[in-house]
Amino acid sequence: MKKLSMLFIVFLFLGLVLAACGDASDDAIDDDGAQSEETPEESESEGESDDSGEASEDWVDNITVLTGGEAGVYFPLGVAMAEIMDQQVDDVSATGISSGASVVNANELSDGQAEFALIQNDVAYYAHEGSNMFDEVVDGFSGVFTIYPETIQIVTLADSGIETVEDLEGKRVAVGDVGSGTEANAEQILGAHDLTFDDLSAEWMDFGDASTNLQDGNVDAAFVTAGTPTGSIQELAASADIRIVSINEDKIAQLEDEYPYYVREDLDENTYENFDATATTVAVQAMLIVRDDLPEDQVYELTKSIFDNLDAMQNAHERGNDLTIDTAQDGMSIDLHPGVQRYFDEQ
Ligand code: GLU
Repeated sequence: MKKLSMLFIVFLFLGLVLAACGDASDDAIDDDGAQSEETPEESESEGESDDSGEASEDWVDNITVLTGGEAGVYFPLGVAMAEIMDQQVDDVSATGISSGASVVNANELSDGQAEFALIQNDVAYYAHEGSNMFDEVVDGFSGVFTIYPETIQIVTLADSGIETVEDLEGKRVAVGDVGSGTEANAEQILGAHDLTFDDLSAEWMDFGDASTNLQDGNVDAAFVTAGTPTGSIQELAASADIRIVSINEDKIAQLEDEYPYYVREDLDENTYENFDATATTVAVQAMLIVRDDLPEDQVYELTKSIFDNLDAMQNAHERGNDLTIDTAQDGMSIDLHPGVQRYFDEQ
């Protein structure tokens, strides 16, 4: 009896020791570095090599993705990205919202009002430089990926008599929303033709209103910097013959020279219905940016979630097909976020 109870005590003791060890190792696996006997260095390096996608305490729970007006291309694609993040990444709730587009988006991210935004690559660059439309450096955000060419389309009705950029002089022209990249491109393109907003009757509005006003005869032309086909122009072309005004070769060369992100772009007759011409113009690139202070592992997971769900991007808009790992850094105009850099280094 005595021997048996000694044995029992020994087993009980061994059992307790084993259970204690088990608990300790479970802790080490479950604990994402947040609960802390670990030093900050240890938890950071664990975070870097941990691809489990589990949120650490410093993750931002509510993510806002800024887009552009609802009749553009940023809106459907930005909403699709937010949906992917929301559905595929645990502990994150994400929403895509409409906005005044590129310049507004840079300012809002810099002010900490949103986490991600779509923006033109030229505008992102000028923000970081504090040049062109920015009076001072606007930063606090970095690059995620570039997606598709945004074509500068100067749209008018086929019978408007406007055939060249110079013909815009004295006309009522929609120049994009206040604080949009479109507005900035309109100013630069007019400038290359020795025109300013004062030489025409400039009106600030989003693409949807620009199309309605063109159709109703309230404006004569509209600048639209967006991926093709752009929803608002498709809508207009469904009921009217349209023209996209070409920029002549000399001016294209001058624009490419003066501004580093313009690239020559041809639109063919299949771009829109009732568009039986071709047009030569310039384009910039659409890209996604993220606020610098989002944790590296969170940005890594969010970036990964988008590349793992490219079909949702493709379903949202034709230009969603342009997002590929191979082309995702073409035309990237600012440094990448470290979480994005890690994702691309691993590909
Ligand atoms: N690139 C445009 C801008 O920043 C917005 C394009 C869009 O909404 O698709 O003005």
